[in-house]
Amino acid sequence: MLDVTPIPAFSDNYIWCLNHSGDNQAVVVDPGDARPVLKALAERGLELAGVIITHHHFDHTGGLDALLAHRKVPVWGPANPAISQISERLREGDRVAILGIEWTVMEVPGHTLDHIAFYAEDTGGDPCLFCGDTLFAGGCGRVFEGNPGMMLGSLDKLAALPASTRIYCAHEYTMANLAFAAAVEPDNAALKARISHDQGLRDRDVPTVPSTLALELDTNPFLRCAQPAVVDKVLAEERATASDPVSVFAAVRGWKDNF
Ligand SMILES: [Zn+2]
Repeated sequence: MLDVTPIPAFSDNYIWCLNHSGDNQAVVVDPGDARPVLKALAERGLELAGVIITHHHFDHTGGLDALLAHRKVPVWGPANPAISQISERLREGDRVAILGIEWTVMEVPGHTLDHIAFYAEDTGGDPCLFCGDTLFAGGCGRVFEGNPGMMLGSLDKLAALPASTRIYCAHEYTMANLAFAAAVEPDNAALKARISHDQGLRDRDVPTVPSTLALELDTNPFLRCAQPAVVDKVLAEERATASDPVSVFAAVRGWKDNF
């Protein structure tokens, strides 16, 4: 059984730590800071066996040098030469064995051009997706380097995964995302239930991540750009002038950027 636990970093990042129950080999995802990682590994008696990187932003890669100085391990990540520490440069459709599990690499450009996600179907439990800053719980990443059509294409790829997939994103942005989602879809009953549930988690300082793809499909406006309620809302508020999914996505993303 694969254990996946969050190591909080900075103000709202999660560095995910993967290990098999009863085994001391651990892989971490997007270590922006080495200190909390080394502390968590020492506390749990785990040994660093590798690092997964989703994209080049510093809050996802800033801990690489210190972790590699601590232990020389493989670093799986994008084929972006700007991230010099990567030892295994990955492309769309590549399959890699990490901790004895087969992971499929998905290129998901938009937030950055080099962004990749790691998907595993056979984890001993539900399928898992590590999607960095592309799909968030209740939202999606800002479109910094790509364009809206590219980002929507990436989100559509993720949306086609099995509904039971656990979505491990890299930030605790959920309540702000859901507040925006409620502005887009004030009558979405599943969204209201999610806000109530997730607020209860935050009140107890419990992470809202991972969510599931099923929940995102029901409540995340960025995966709902073809839903009549979302289309009608952005047209009625004159945030979009066309009802095609890219126009609607661009309107919703632009609205969130200033929300
Ligand atoms: Zn980022």
